Amino acid sequence: MRRCEMLKEKKEKFKNIGKVAIYPGSFDPITYGHIDVVERALEIFDKVIVAIAENEEKRPLFSVEERLGMVKAIFKETPNVMVDSFKGLLVDYVAKTNAKVSLRGLRATSDFEYEFHMASMNRSLSPQLDTLFMMTSKDYFFVSSRTIKEVARLGGGVEGLVPDLVVRRLREKFKLPVTKRKQIGWDD
Ligand code: ADP
Repeated sequence: MRRCEMLKEKKEKFKNIGKVAIYPGSFDPITYGHIDVVERALEIFDKVIVAIAENEEKRPLFSVEERLGMVKAIFKETPNVMVDSFKGLLVDYVAKTNAKVSLRGLRATSDFEYEFHMASMNRSLSPQLDTLFMMTSKDYFFVSSRTIKEVARLGGGVEGLVPDLVVRRLREKFKLPVTKRKQIGWDD
């Protein structure tokens, strides 16, 4: 096929792509790295659905209700952002929406392998679903929910890396007495 024909075909394909993107993840908790991805995606899509995965196997620090509450509060003045949660396969959740794109962020080459496998698996489960990757911004390339939790647990400051609401929620969580923390399994 000639290059111009290929481009035409591609253009047709992208013309029909819904302008809704799903941004799935644990968001345990949401960070400015995530928020930056959403804000940049809003330049491309009409609507971004932040879809919080309910995956108890990951033993999240915040319950899905707590994560929903935080993310909703953070985007309450951004009308083009919808916040939802889902259980099970992403492709099954996406099928219930009119999105055709799953949005993911990439920080380092270490993210790449996992993301590449997930995107390929999702594509194999649902050929209609494309994954779009956004590179992290220079200010947030080192920010992950995991390191934020580690630092906050040890009493370090995470201001400027997560919204103030999240800073407060982390403080509340880690203020619990050690016995209670052990009871609910945080220190395992
Ligand atoms: P998951 O548990 O599904 O990886 P996360 O909440 O950790 O969920 O991340 C959701 C997505 O956001 C992932 O694609 C992750 O690579 C991306 N992400 C997380 N932190 C950042 C960041 N600082 N910059 C860009 N993308 C990020």
